[in-house]
Amino acid sequence: MLKPSSPYPQAPYKTPSSPALDRQALRPDCANCFALCCTAFGFTRSADFAVDKDAGTPCTNLAADFSCTIHHSLRARGFKGCTVFDCFGAGQRVSQDLFGGESWLERPASKEKMFSAFKAARQLHEMLWYLAEAQVRTFDPEASQRAVVLRSIIEKAVGGDPDGLLSLDVQELHAEVRLLLMAVSEEVRASYFATGDDHLDPDLRPRADLSGKDLRSRRLCGADLRSSYLIAADLRGSDLTAVDLLGADLRNARLEGADLSRALFLTQPQINAAQGDLRTLLPADVAAPSHRGP
Ligand code: SF4
Repeated sequence: MLKPSSPYPQAPYKTPSSPALDRQALRPDCANCFALCCTAFGFTRSADFAVDKDAGTPCTNLAADFSCTIHHSLRARGFKGCTVFDCFGAGQRVSQDLFGGESWLERPASKEKMFSAFKAARQLHEMLWYLAEAQVRTFDPEASQRAVVLRSIIEKAVGGDPDGLLSLDVQELHAEVRLLLMAVSEEVRASYFATGDDHLDPDLRPRADLSGKDLRSRRLCGADLRSSYLIAADLRGSDLTAVDLLGADLRNARLEGADLSRALFLTQPQINAAQGDLRTLLPADVAAPSHRGP
């Protein structure tokens, strides 16, 4: 499963099991963050953002107390992208744990390092999100232990100091995580008879462009739709059990009445970007978006 040259420690085959990570800890806590997403990242004027903003500069809608002055009208004001974004809890982790609760306003010299740490921590927290799911979805004890080991490496990095975090090879770690997620996906989907020769629909494949397609009559369970384009696809009433949605683009996908409660590797930003209703079933730790409509 893993490259023999992996620089990260291999899990012994049998070790005491570790409790699964509570993904509620990966939910954003904006009250304890120095608005890092509104400063560290840049954005380009588009359907998602009404203006251009350079990375490393505060958004003009940001108040001195790190709140957003247009929070209640973001979509109406052309800032849909802000309602979709999710930091996986990296904002409060960097603000409070790595930088001790001292903001970039109080200590401007820390600004650059804090923003770099946030970008790295966000990637790592997203990996934690997937690893938590991999650990509990797999029936392979070796894969489960591998998830625990990778998780501990990440938790050590984001729980240490900024220099340690920034010295981590995030891309190398990402490659390790990706391998594990693919193996767990294959294992879970296989139980739905949707791999190899039993694959039911050749259109349903990784990186497929299914934008705008009506998929309501397709049998989707167990499909591998990793990194696929499902922009405005019609999935109303569909059963997406064991469908691998890792990195799938769900912008404006129609999810009314769809069952995603057992989909694989679904994230909050994907749901924030899609359209659902009260009948849409989600995993327990993914919340229905607070906004209504597209
Ligand atoms: S519009 Fe509000 S939420 Fe979006 S980047 Fe600016 S301050 Fe942050």
